[in-house]
Amino acid sequence: MDYALSQALNYKTDGFSRAITFYDINCQYNKYLQDRVAASMYLSIPIGMDIIPAIGLWHVHGHQDSCYVRYASNFIPGTGRIDGEIMETLWAPLNIISPSARGMGTPHRKEVLDYQMNDCNFMKMIRMSESHPSFLLISAHPRPIFDRQPGSSAES
Ligand SMILES: [Zn+2]
Repeated sequence: MDYALSQALNYKTDGFSRAITFYDINCQYNKYLQDRVAASMYLSIPIGMDIIPAIGLWHVHGHQDSCYVRYASNFIPGTGRIDGEIMETLWAPLNIISPSARGMGTPHRKEVLDYQMNDCNFMKMIRMSESHPSFLLISAHPRPIFDRQPGSSAES
């Protein structure tokens, strides 16, 4: 997890000053992240980048009340209205194939589930502009909206 996060934070993020990360257990995961990064020769966080931990709205309700006010996207400036959940959106389409996958051997079931999830991700990607036109605005903008400081001027 640390390595994946480190790689993502260092990929085409020049000039970004903030990154909001969503993880189901970010309240625990983020506690010693800086220490783990400092102790590893394989991990790095871009200098000057603030990591703002968040927990997806579905998961944060299973945490302590203090986690809700601190990590729910509703209260983090700049996040907008986002649920912060990715994997859970695959559950409904996977339910369609689960009766047939149930009887398959392990390798076949893994291949079928991988294919189904890849197809779901592909369909999300090609429909993104239809359901979330603001995503195109964000991705076409040289500096994403989430990178702006609260109270700064609007888009140019
Ligand atoms: Zn928590």
